[in-house]
Amino acid sequence: MKIICIGRNYSEHAKEMNSEVPDVPMFFMKSDVSILRPGNPFFYPNFSKDIHYECEIVVKINRVGKNIAEKFAHKYYSEIGLGIDFTARDLQKKCKEMGHPWEIAKSFEGSAPISNEFIPTAVLDLHNIAFSLTKNNKLVQTGNTKDMIFNIHQLIAYISQFMTLKKGDLIYTGTPAGVGPVIIGDSLKGYIGEKEMFSVKIK
Ligand code: ZN
Repeated sequence: MKIICIGRNYSEHAKEMNSEVPDVPMFFMKSDVSILRPGNPFFYPNFSKDIHYECEIVVKINRVGKNIAEKFAHKYYSEIGLGIDFTARDLQKKCKEMGHPWEIAKSFEGSAPISNEFIPTAVLDLHNIAFSLTKNNKLVQTGNTKDMIFNIHQLIAYISQFMTLKKGDLIYTGTPAGVGPVIIGDSLKGYIGEKEMFSVKIK
């Protein structure tokens, strides 16, 4: 499976990063070893001193598709989860300055916590999914899919021009504003609506 992550998909986050709002989706990838299953702690890596959380709605692809038209994109997923796109912000900044790829800042081991549970799209209003993240039980991020610059169907259509999407692939759809650092001892909890989707301890 592969993990595709969308950058700058909420204008308030683009603003906080001093980034321009893109005219087409921007994506990068993580590897399968980035996945961090619930119940496992996140071990703060020694190559970074500035790991940031980015809480994101995650789409799980349920069938193979290539060059998927936007109007058919809804047929390629049936469940929505929640995850974190952990980012080594210090390394990312260096990569950006040097014009290098972001993998070392984004695709490291354990950098993609994911909820165990996925919610069937049938019970969700896809263009109005509220989600949030708390750090040590304090609210740090709130988002809603209605504020996405590119919606889920546009993302699937865009990505599938470049690569076949397969069953089990995950799309992290971008983070809203409010990203920030974690330190050892922190605890992060993610919610869709009122429902707790995951809890991650930083060790
Ligand atoms: Zn992200």
